[in-house]
Amino acid sequence: MDLVALNKLKVLLEAPQNIVIVPHRNPDGDAMGSSLGMFWFLKSMGLNSQVILPNEIPDFLKWMPGVENTLNFEKQNNQSIKALDEASLIFLLDFNAFHRVGDVMGEKLSSLSAEFVMIDHHQEPDDITEFMYSDTSICATCEMIFHFIKKLEKTELICPKTATCLYTGIMTDTGSFKFGSTTALTHRVVAELIDKGANNSQIHSKVFDQNSYDRLQLLGKSLSNMVRMESCRTAYICLSDEDLKAHNFQKGDTEGVVNYALSIKGVVLAAIFIEDKNQNIIKISFRSRGDFSVNRFARSYFEGGGHDNAAGGRSLLSLEDTAKRFVELVELNKDAILATYED
Ligand code: 5GP
Ligand code: MN
Repeated sequence: MDLVALNKLKVLLEAPQNIVIVPHRNPDGDAMGSSLGMFWFLKSMGLNSQVILPNEIPDFLKWMPGVENTLNFEKQNNQSIKALDEASLIFLLDFNAFHRVGDVMGEKLSSLSAEFVMIDHHQEPDDITEFMYSDTSICATCEMIFHFIKKLEKTELICPKTATCLYTGIMTDTGSFKFGSTTALTHRVVAELIDKGANNSQIHSKVFDQNSYDRLQLLGKSLSNMVRMESCRTAYICLSDEDLKAHNFQKGDTEGVVNYALSIKGVVLAAIFIEDKNQNIIKISFRSRGDFSVNRFARSYFEGGGHDNAAGGRSLLSLEDTAKRFVELVELNKDAILATYED
């Protein structure tokens, strides 16, 4: 966001507004953290806002401060539409194209005349608004929210709840500070968040040490379903609706499972294919190591996108045919995949 836009936004935030905050569909820690962090920060500024989630929150994030104040567009549709219709300012956080909230909500958003503010770190943003803070080099939207607050010269308004939310998103989007996107600046931001009341150890435990027995059994099933394409340095996992039902699947249970495929020595491309009978799609997560861009791969073949090393997409084929297609595409891209391998 350039200085002119930032100053204009500063002025907007000085007057009372009907503010709505929206993260992407299937919100992860960064989407929830940036939305709830913004909610608490605006509250400290004396501004009320309404967080509207496109759909359900995964169980492992339900402890986050402010979750009880959110609306679910799918489940509380009338209330959500009313809040959107009345909004004068809408924050779009951790996504950069309207379709990322789902088709119905995306169409609703694009029909509104409210001002939009987009803060996001994904590749290839759509040109939605003049208030756009997009930086693909930053590890998490939550880190960007911190920089945004700093640009507004309001870091003194970061309360323990804001700090907790922002810490959570940075922690989850960096794989607990281990991905290449984690910088010295990320650690400085995180240190400030701890100073401002984020309890780092407790947050880690709330996110990662609350597994259900069923979730771990499903992880076991995922690992035994894993297929390795050794000559292509690729591994992938398929989970059928039957697998999910057999383990009492709850939203969020498959979060991070794809990383096990990527953790095999020598593997540079990993994928997980999950059958979603409600939406009648196969939801896909891709991960890569090094220069093979799964953002490009997901965009080219699976109606998706994301980051260079972490992206998602979907397929309308059956689970079996999706996996078959993936195998063919991996063979097709074999040279590009192998070229990125570094010992
Ligand atoms: P995950 O695999 O954890 O669901 O997502 C990995 C990254 O890709 C996240 O940053 C997420 O926002 C993005 N992503 C996931 N699914 C999609 C999709 O269908 N389209 C786009 N554009 N991005 C996605
Ligand atoms: Mn993110």
